Amino acid sequence: MSINNLKIQCPSCEWKPDGRNYWRCNCGNVWNTFDTVGICPVCDKKWEKTQCPGAGYPGGCGVISNHDEWYTIPINYKKLFINKNNKENPKNIQTKANEYYTEKK
Ligand SMILES: [Zn+2]
Ligand SMILES: [Zn+2]
Repeated sequence: MSINNLKIQCPSCEWKPDGRNYWRCNCGNVWNTFDTVGICPVCDKKWEKTQCPGAGYPGGCGVISNHDEWYTIPINYKKLFINKNNKENPKNIQTKANEYYTEKK
């Protein structure tokens, strides 16, 4: 079970992320925030809130929601990622996330 196969949807409009890079960090990085559970892979900033893509994007309402509310299954990613000072390589973070979801399946 890949993190990309999880049921993830906007809590407001139920738009489902399509795997494209819609999210831009303060550092200028553009990525798919659900690949890294809301953590920017360049500067390690943890985004507690995630905006649904709005006008100009293929779907989405533009509403900002808590990142964890996007997941339709309960995840304990706060426990998984410990704290904002976690300097792990984002690729490791995604691997750990995938392992976590596999365990919870
Ligand atoms: Zn960043
Ligand atoms: Zn939405």
